[in-house]
Amino acid sequence: MGYLLQSSKEILMIPAKGYAAKGPKAPLTPFTFERRDPKDQDVAIDIKFCGICHSDIHQARDEWGGSIFPMVPGHEIAGIVTQVGSKVTKYEVGDHVGVGCMVDSCRHCSPCESGLEQYCQAGMTGTYNSMERDGTAATQGGYSNKIVVNENYVLKIPSNLPLDAAAPLLCAGVTLYSPLMHWKAGPGKKVAILGMGGLGHMGVKIAHALGAQVTVLSHSMKKMEDAMHLGADHFFTTSDPETFTKLAGTFDLIINTVSAEIDWNQYLGLVKLDGTMVVVGVPEKPTPVHSFSLIGGRKSLAGSGIGGIKETQDMLNFCSKHNITCDIELISADKINEAYERVLKSDVRYRFVIDMATL
Ligand code: NAP
Ligand code: ZN
Repeated sequence: MGYLLQSSKEILMIPAKGYAAKGPKAPLTPFTFERRDPKDQDVAIDIKFCGICHSDIHQARDEWGGSIFPMVPGHEIAGIVTQVGSKVTKYEVGDHVGVGCMVDSCRHCSPCESGLEQYCQAGMTGTYNSMERDGTAATQGGYSNKIVVNENYVLKIPSNLPLDAAAPLLCAGVTLYSPLMHWKAGPGKKVAILGMGGLGHMGVKIAHALGAQVTVLSHSMKKMEDAMHLGADHFFTTSDPETFTKLAGTFDLIINTVSAEIDWNQYLGLVKLDGTMVVVGVPEKPTPVHSFSLIGGRKSLAGSGIGGIKETQDMLNFCSKHNITCDIELISADKINEAYERVLKSDVRYRFVIDMATL
């Protein structure tokens, strides 16, 4: 145990270890730091597994600007409760729990009160690369062995879901579940999942379970067989220009998960009258969109960010009911930098998950 001296009051701290980026060009290396001792409403969690989301790479390399270093990334956290604060009512020691992309929000704006904490008007507190709401310290994420989180931002992982393959549901799963529910993917709807990486492969499984007709649009042919196994009805590669003529005006909904710059105008051409393309991928640079891409066909271009806490729990329960987990490659912590390079080459089937026992 360590101690932090603050306003002449001693606050107990819990030692933690993990992997951190010290700067935007630095590889991730072993790092020791401290977590706060659980407050009344806090839950202390032993992290067992954490997924590697492409957002971790964007932020560790400061591609979106404003990154805070040293940074312990990771917001697809699965673990076991080891301690609860005196006022905690939702969790007990031994529970299987998850933590996703946020660990706090203002709790009283209209989005927070409607269970859409990810759209908190004062800004949600990210699990890492964010400042705690009291402004005292930067948050640190899940590439580590312990975390302490307010119980209202902790999720229950249903018992039939293994913790390693469930971890990526906390971001990849809910980021696709939320727009699929909001735009009512289901029977009779033609849904395209653009980009079949960590997010996209969850989109295929969830949209299929919702009963939609699912098409995967991928930039190579390499993932065709996998797509069909995951539940896709159709597969087309966007490297073939004919795909854009064959599928013109086809989809009610396209969920664009691509992490790189692509021409959104081309993809809006695949949306049918009154249909929508929802962007969830966040490329480094802004993307130009022509008015005519939307006007012809009264189309909508929308965005969607992760999901609220209630919706994340709904998603976990949905996945439990339909036996949906992520397809993962389990790695030891010393392979994180290698994993980053493979994610950048779209060479992961379909999510890397770090085994914290290897820290
Ligand atoms: P990922 O595993 O790397 O998947 C991205 C996929 O995009 C790749 O598998 C690939 O699919 C496609 N792609 C990559 N480079 C491409 C290129 N140059 N041209 C065309 N397609 C390309 O990443 P992820 O973890 O799923 O995350 C995807 C994006 O969503 C990232 O930008 C991430 O930051 C963002 N994100 C957003 C939210 C949100 O709340 N909105 C949440 C989490 C992540 P194919 O091989 O099938 O083409
Ligand atoms: Zn993520």
